[in-house]
Amino acid sequence: ENDQLACQGCGVEIQTEDPQKQGYTPKSTLAKEDILCKRCFRLKHYNEIQDVEITDDDFLKMLTSIQEKEGLIVHIVDIFDVSGSLFSSLPRIVGNNPIILVGNKIDLLPKSTNKNRLLQWLRSSAKEVGLSVKDVSLISSTRGHGMEELVDKIETLRKGKDVYIVGATNVGKSTFINRLIKQSTGIDNVITTSYFPGTTLGFIEIPLDDSSAMVDTPGIINRQQISHYVSKKDLKIIHPTKEIKPAVYQLNAKQTLFFGGLARFDFIKGEKQSFVCYFSNHLIIHRTKLENADQLYDNHVGEMLAPPNEESLEILPKLVKNTFRISAERPTDIVIPGLGWISTSGKDVTVEVHAPQGIAVSLRKSLI
Ligand code: GDP
Repeated sequence: ENDQLACQGCGVEIQTEDPQKQGYTPKSTLAKEDILCKRCFRLKHYNEIQDVEITDDDFLKMLTSIQEKEGLIVHIVDIFDVSGSLFSSLPRIVGNNPIILVGNKIDLLPKSTNKNRLLQWLRSSAKEVGLSVKDVSLISSTRGHGMEELVDKIETLRKGKDVYIVGATNVGKSTFINRLIKQSTGIDNVITTSYFPGTTLGFIEIPLDDSSAMVDTPGIINRQQISHYVSKKDLKIIHPTKEIKPAVYQLNAKQTLFFGGLARFDFIKGEKQSFVCYFSNHLIIHRTKLENADQLYDNHVGEMLAPPNEESLEILPKLVKNTFRISAERPTDIVIPGLGWISTSGKDVTVEVHAPQGIAVSLRKSLI
């Protein structure tokens, strides 16, 4: 019976069942005196943070207990999946504490990306869900772009107080924190004591100076993230690992593009023109006639139109149609969060985008 065991590092309840979830420790370590969860163990012995998952309900409950605390919130999102990784309940929880919104993985975007428009879009995406942010940053945790500026901003805005790092699973939160840990040298004993002794929290504290800490929180599972509807193998295909190379398609009205079997783009009305597709270089795009599209999908999803594969097809929500009439002066991106986007400079265009239910397709001013 492990019910009463708590991690000596972060206070979370210990469990031995699920390595992804918080509080995990292998059964073999239960006999030890000072039990640490896997996350605290790795931090203590390897100076390395690993992410664990938590549902956003549980996350809300955890955070309520720090409502009265003061600190700076650093909210990391995946620039490739902004609507899937923005945590819209954040303002309710953090009260008046300032938030910095950080778009991670900018190394994946083409070099010609207009950073100002990207920042603007991030800001307006936050505003749309009612998230008011003090500052917006763009970084690459793997390459280090923008990290120094961000660290400076954090130092200024935290005013000597604690820093809470918050993000959905897969946004790169661990990569970010590990980079910070490696940058700040000379920390021997990274985890201090349980942040709130006697409570089962699961926050890990990494000292910044004598009186304040950087606090790592578990990764929030967000149902709007496409990564929850595909297998790990599929994710490797759809999530770019290198700078994406745009693919240009000259389309006539009544033509369709399939992005694997995960999304479908129908050019309904408008003059012949080019559509520029920004997706993982490994995701195969199929072009077909609109009139054949339904049948092609029914017959070939999970094999020719992949990902998903036959197995992951079962967990994929059904595709639902979003209609857009675009009559902008400036080029427009049609964004499929977690997958990529299609850019058009058409002035009078009707398109229909079929995307998994729950994935919020949207428009923005073109980034390129
Ligand atoms: P966490 O779940 O938020 O802790 O995310 P991880 O740090 O485990 O990262 C999730 C995935 O995103 C891993 O495959 C990372 O290599 C990748 N990743 C993280 N940061 C970046 C980045 O700045 N650029 C790129 N291209 N990939 C990143």
